[in-house]
Amino acid sequence: MTLPTATDAGLVFVGRIHTPWTSRMDTPRQGRQDGPLCRIEIFDPWVPALDGLEQYERVEVIYWLHLSRRDLVRQSPAHDGAARGTFSLRSPVRPNPLGTSVARLVGIEGATVLVRGLDCLDGTPLLDLKPDRTLFTPIAPPQPGDLQTGNP
Ligand code: SAM
Repeated sequence: MTLPTATDAGLVFVGRIHTPWTSRMDTPRQGRQDGPLCRIEIFDPWVPALDGLEQYERVEVIYWLHLSRRDLVRQSPAHDGAARGTFSLRSPVRPNPLGTSVARLVGIEGATVLVRGLDCLDGTPLLDLKPDRTLFTPIAPPQPGDLQTGNP
């Protein structure tokens, strides 16, 4: 398909991820929390944004799979002729190649976050870090929508 030319989301790369993998063929399909140690380098001026993250055991890592093609609506991951829709897959090939992993936080050393559980190439740009949502209790007071259930 032909990709639209216009974009309206301005993303900022806040760091770079260092992993043992330099080939997509060697990279895990999904990271595992007993996988190799990976280093997430945080760029200035975002280093102070790490304050408080150390208290969480797991961190959600959001990254930009920068070498992916972005033009497949359907794809066949097993190359067996059986195609599925891109949104039913976690393939790196997607219109906006976001990757997410819940990684085990090993430590924070200055501007470097050490984790296990990634599945991206060495040099992959970092978009964001968040505490694992299952460990996080909102700090801001609840809002009415937090208590809403059912319809409408
Ligand atoms: N865990 C993430 C997710 O579910 O959103 C990513 C899963 S994706 C299947 C992982 C694969 O993306 C790797 O096996 C590798 O083939 C590919 N990949 C990793 N880093 C990449 C990069 N920087 N650019 C393009 N493809 C990449």
